[in-house]
Amino acid sequence: MHIPEEKISEILNTSDIVEIISESVILKNSGRNFFGLCPFHSEKTPSFSVNPGKQIFHCFGCSAGGNVISYVMKYHGITFPEAAKMLAQRYNIVIETKDISPAKREQLNLKENLFRLNKKVMEVYSSQLCTSAQGEAARNYLKNRGTTDDIIQEFGLGFSPDAWECVVNVLKKQKVLRKVAIQSGLVMERKQSKGFYDRFRNRIMFPIFDINMQVAGFGGRVMDDSMPKYMNSPETPVYNKSRILYGLHASKQYCRQLGFVYIVEGYFDFLSLYQHGIKNAVATSGTALTSDHVRLLKGYASKMVLVFDSDAAGIHAAKRSIKTFMQEGVDIRVLVLPEGNDPDSFVVKYGADAFSEKASKAKTVMQFLLQVSIDTHGLSVEGRMKILDEMKEHLMLIHDGALRSLYVKELSETLNIDEKAVLEKVREQVVNQVAKKTFLPGSEKDDKNEKQLESDRREEQVISMMLNYPEIIKEVEKTDTLDYFYSEKLKRIAKKIIMVDSPKDAFVTKVMASMKKDEDQQLIASLAMNDFLCEKEDIHETALSIINRIIRVRTKQENTLTSKIISAEKGCNSELMALLKQKQDQIRQLHDR
Ligand SMILES: [Zn+2]
Repeated sequence: MHIPEEKISEILNTSDIVEIISESVILKNSGRNFFGLCPFHSEKTPSFSVNPGKQIFHCFGCSAGGNVISYVMKYHGITFPEAAKMLAQRYNIVIETKDISPAKREQLNLKENLFRLNKKVMEVYSSQLCTSAQGEAARNYLKNRGTTDDIIQEFGLGFSPDAWECVVNVLKKQKVLRKVAIQSGLVMERKQSKGFYDRFRNRIMFPIFDINMQVAGFGGRVMDDSMPKYMNSPETPVYNKSRILYGLHASKQYCRQLGFVYIVEGYFDFLSLYQHGIKNAVATSGTALTSDHVRLLKGYASKMVLVFDSDAAGIHAAKRSIKTFMQEGVDIRVLVLPEGNDPDSFVVKYGADAFSEKASKAKTVMQFLLQVSIDTHGLSVEGRMKILDEMKEHLMLIHDGALRSLYVKELSETLNIDEKAVLEKVREQVVNQVAKKTFLPGSEKDDKNEKQLESDRREEQVISMMLNYPEIIKEVEKTDTLDYFYSEKLKRIAKKIIMVDSPKDAFVTKVMASMKKDEDQQLIASLAMNDFLCEKEDIHETALSIINRIIRVRTKQENTLTSKIISAEKGCNSELMALLKQKQDQIRQLHDR
């Protein structure tokens, strides 16, 4: 889809980057910028900054950066037109798409069609649950579980009848294209004959909403003991399993308010907690937790409590998830409910207060892992050695040295092993790990020429000033500064900046919009954030001195080499001459990154 330039600038001028990013990152105001934990890399202290004046974001940790459109693209993993459209919709900006052929439009709007189809199917499942004769068993099932009508309404619960073509008929009625039908994951192609059949049959249906309240997929649960107990939609163009958590669309505001989130396994675990007033929860619903999930959650709560069943499967799942959380540096606790309980049955039996009381005593990750290890190996001499072996792997994942030594102490006390011996074991492991990393290929890349770094820094400074004080641009033009730039990349970017019109208001926004490449946008964001340290009155003088230095250094270097080449030529020293020319080429190449 082509979106006209003026629409793009309308979108950029209307959207508020702080408002948009706040939806996924907790931002705190500090001076001219807002800071928060970067959603694009794992970190404990905020290095992700947003500047409302320039409408850009930049991460000092991983150097992700750009404008509001690039943020939406990167965060949701969508294309430029999709991101622009999403923002346009939100700010009521109309984008005309009349000039596109119906066939092409169909293709481009696949996602939109899938969302619409999912919504329609949700309505069908819902009416099957509430009014159909077949739905009675499902109604009774939910009643017996204590699920209220309010919850059924709010979360759009439904029932897929015991039929092969309920959804197939909906698709036919809606004249859904074959391609869309296949991509929806709602139906499957018949193997023996032509046509489709329903994926979900005779199940309680849970629509899975994305963060924008659109139906991305479905989960279905049987009402008896048949297998599989749960079944989910496959990954589709609108259902990215590693980015969606069940219930977050409804619980996000509560997670924010309370600062922590319960992570449970099943749909009913989530719904029961929610129904009993514990609304700051999400469910993994059978998908393995990924670092994307954890980063997503970090935008809503800084503390997380993993709630698992006490059976072997639950403990195994908890152990598997913990690694992901630790690597992301999240404050995580583990709540294992008394044997025979899951969050659903527990809260129904004992109530919300009892649940919160249990949760307040949730174990730290290390306490939990240690307990599991002790339960497995026992405390014989042999058992304790095995425990130590297991625990050192986990201890290694803790990056905070102080925290690690606390755990080492705890471990040595519990196992009655000398603290130094424990520490030695952990160190061994760390050293092994580091050794592995260091010998990976490509570690020599930091061998940059010191002079090149200096010249890059000066050239970056000039661009930074051009962005922050556009009046500098005429000086750059007047002195042909760019001809003296070593870095081709910086030269190219500076040239583009000069070409941007009317450098008065929202200049950075305009510059950003003119950069097509992601890496260019990132660089611009980082240079624009680089607030120049001097006073505004001095800026002209500072700029001139840097410009002069750039010109002087390059001229001098070229002159020295040229005169050496000339004298070598005069002295007929062809060997030296070749070497000098080689050197001159090398210097040029070094800077052409
Ligand atoms: Zn980052």
